[in-house]
Amino acid sequence: MPPHAIAQPADPWRELEAAARTSLARAVDAYNFLEDSELSELAHRHAHHVAALVGGLFGCNIESSEDTYWDVCRLTLMHDRWGMSAGFTSTRNCSLCAQDIDTCPHLLDTRYDITVRHARDGRCNVCGRLGCPHTDGETVSAFPRPVMSEMQLHEVSLVSRPRDPLARLAKIELSQDALGQALGEGPAGRDVCCYRCLHPCSGFSQLPNRH
Ligand SMILES: [Zn+2]
Ligand SMILES: [Zn+2]
Ligand SMILES: [Zn+2]
Ligand SMILES: [Zn+2]
Repeated sequence: MPPHAIAQPADPWRELEAAARTSLARAVDAYNFLEDSELSELAHRHAHHVAALVGGLFGCNIESSEDTYWDVCRLTLMHDRWGMSAGFTSTRNCSLCAQDIDTCPHLLDTRYDITVRHARDGRCNVCGRLGCPHTDGETVSAFPRPVMSEMQLHEVSLVSRPRDPLARLAKIELSQDALGQALGEGPAGRDVCCYRCLHPCSGFSQLPNRH
């Protein structure tokens, strides 16, 4: 194609839909970042406007697999003000013996003769760097250094302000009872559409206090 030709999208309507859904995702992200700032109400209203446009033009579906229904409406999920926070730990291991550096016999202020060995990812056991001047097999005198062990995930908890503002729930299972109430009858495997994003705001729900 000559450089001055303007590429015609193969399916402009699909591309428009993709762009619109992306802008809804970004509007929700923006709210998640701004919820504690003075811009939160602006971001909130903006998300409603974008969601109404996207839902009105392209629709908003309830996801289903077999007889389980999932709420994936970004605007509705945005009104559930909780997200995930993860608790991690890792230990600092000694580069010489791989034991916990606080309890192993090596002293941090003492040099030891170490045989250079690069790990499969290219990291040097003596200096811990990638692409260092050490050669495998040579012996160098070096201090032991701490190496972080692999992080261990202990728990994932629901919190109202996750440390990562974007760590929000992506979908929530809808109970058959709630669906039946909203629809007047059970969904019975039918496709269900969401119209909540076209309606005025019905408020936020906060994480219940659990004690
Ligand atoms: Zn919706
Ligand atoms: Zn050690
Ligand atoms: Zn090295
Ligand atoms: Zn709202």
